Amino acid sequence: MSETQAAPAKAATIEEKQYLLRFNADTQSHLHVMDPQVCLTSCPDKICTIFCPAEVYKWEDIRMHVGYEGCHECGSCRIGCPHQNIKWVYPKGGHGIVFRLG
Ligand code: SF4
Ligand code: SF4
Repeated sequence: MSETQAAPAKAATIEEKQYLLRFNADTQSHLHVMDPQVCLTSCPDKICTIFCPAEVYKWEDIRMHVGYEGCHECGSCRIGCPHQNIKWVYPKGGHGIVFRLG
């Protein structure tokens, strides 16, 4: 690269992107894995741990931990679970994610 060329823009880190988000978590989860046995016995790929952009789903040895507080409300888990094993609703009014875009 010559000295006159501008350096390529650096991609924002997850931490920088997360700074634009605020969460007002409810005390009750709006996400529910309906049958944990299905995750344990019938879903070797645990694909929700991959498609969720907020990394809400974390597999812990024999069970799924659901960190609902960080949900971005994108709705992907309504259609992404191959076993329709996730019950998804919007958080109660006044709770959930707030986007700081300006
Ligand atoms: S994708 Fe669905 S069935 Fe598979 S681990 Fe996640 S919640 Fe369980
Ligand atoms: S709605 Fe989106 S961000 Fe929230 S848990 Fe589902 S996939 Fe993750």
